[in-house]
Amino acid sequence: MSQSFSQQRLCPTAMSSRCPECYATLPEDASWVCPTCGYTLRTPVSSKVGVGFMLLGLVLLGTFVAGPESLGLRSGWMPSDLAELTITSYPLLVAGTFFLGMALMAAGALRLRGERSRAPV
Ligand SMILES: [Zn+2]
Repeated sequence: MSQSFSQQRLCPTAMSSRCPECYATLPEDASWVCPTCGYTLRTPVSSKVGVGFMLLGLVLLGTFVAGPESLGLRSGWMPSDLAELTITSYPLLVAGTFFLGMALMAAGALRLRGERSRAPV
């Protein structure tokens, strides 16, 4: 498995024509999943962005646990009203970021599942 991954990186042209999992020749339109074995050839961008948002959510959660007040929002670089609003809506911000990340990852998974369902099992 890990060997086929490194081969993919070394020679990207071979990746588009052959499945790294079952070595079946891939048709032109099979850009997401292998039609023969259902192997995921490419991760949808929304999944990657989703992971990014989840990580951002973790960072925000960390700062929230540490206390949003300690971020220095009230130190004057930000209008105090806005700083106050950011601090009071912080849990919402954290939850929203997590939710967005999960929604994007779900969208990517659904897209892959849709592509996979076209493949004969
Ligand atoms: Zn395959």
